[in-house]
Amino acid sequence: DNTPRKINFGPGPAQLPIEVLHNVQKEFFSFDNCGSNVMELSHRSPAFSKIIDDAEKDIRELLSIPDTYAVLFLQGGATGQFSAIPMNLINLKPSQTADYLVTGYWSEKAAKEAEKYGKVNYVIPKQEKYHDVPEQTTWNLTDDASYFYYCANETIHGVEIHDVPVLPNKAQIVCDMSSNFLTRQVDVTKFAIIFASGQKNFGCSGIVLVIVRKDLIGNAMKSTPVNFDFKVQLSNNSMYNTPPTFSIYISNKMFDWSKRQGGIKALEKQSKIKSDLIYSAIDQSNRFYLSEINPSYRSRVNIPFRIAINGVPDEKLEKLFLEEALRLNMIELKGHRAVGGLRVSLYNGITIEETEKLAQLMRTFQTIHCV
Ligand code: PLP
Repeated sequence: DNTPRKINFGPGPAQLPIEVLHNVQKEFFSFDNCGSNVMELSHRSPAFSKIIDDAEKDIRELLSIPDTYAVLFLQGGATGQFSAIPMNLINLKPSQTADYLVTGYWSEKAAKEAEKYGKVNYVIPKQEKYHDVPEQTTWNLTDDASYFYYCANETIHGVEIHDVPVLPNKAQIVCDMSSNFLTRQVDVTKFAIIFASGQKNFGCSGIVLVIVRKDLIGNAMKSTPVNFDFKVQLSNNSMYNTPPTFSIYISNKMFDWSKRQGGIKALEKQSKIKSDLIYSAIDQSNRFYLSEINPSYRSRVNIPFRIAINGVPDEKLEKLFLEEALRLNMIELKGHRAVGGLRVSLYNGITIEETEKLAQLMRTFQTIHCV
């Protein structure tokens, strides 16, 4: 097939590095000379055991995950963790209360789901628009919270919390890193749980990686579905039932690729270069392109913006921009319906050169259409 590859700036499932795709293609009919595709291997076979063990080894190395943490490859997506986390942790304290910092669409969903399993304390009042995060001194924290939950990067609203909160109540910190996972250095030891779904920065959908401190495991509510019980999954090496073998295989390839890029430091550097390219085009546009997020919380990974005439967003121009982008093979730039406008997602599978192409288009489009 000679169809040129599109540049996919979508929020996920995201574009994979071409090198990884070629590698998968090479092994498609026979993985490691075994005569079967990975999809056709038993999850109990030595060949598959090696894949999941290698994936765990690589992610431990990439993030310097200590032995005191378990690494679980689970199903149900990040959304599944919106239920699994309260089910496993709400009983940690007699208060059965969890603090939720809601800074956008995804943390709001997580908090709503947690309400089914315990008491949810909203740390900040509901925000009109998710453009900012109120000062920590104004947060209303629970003294004996079972845990504190936040989303490090709100994929739809483009709000990224760059520093891990230091909490006066020393609550266990749980973090949804689905969209900025592996795009920056992270000190795992500051967290009780980090989780991330695969389809953005480490492969394909069908998998959620859960990094959980081992001493917190074993407190699940009685009604927890067996598949969501961290203790059961840990003692079964994430294979209580048939795991998403192909997604784990792709994760293994992506972790290996991430290491070959130079690890997290190098990926963080690339992420910064890419987002600087887009934010420069926005900030130098004299408000032709509008980013409404407080610059201290701008996401390096998902950048929503509007195209405006005299400060007023113009949907016709935005539509025209999408058409022009498509003509140049760039896709998935439409903003989420909750926000409108445009959104650029710069996951690890997007290269600096591809981002330069988009920044160039933004400048040319402005020259032509700015009145
Ligand atoms: N959390 C964040 C930050 C996301 O961006 C997404 C999906 O885009 C999810 C959770 C939900 O992930 P999943 O579709 O894997 O359940």
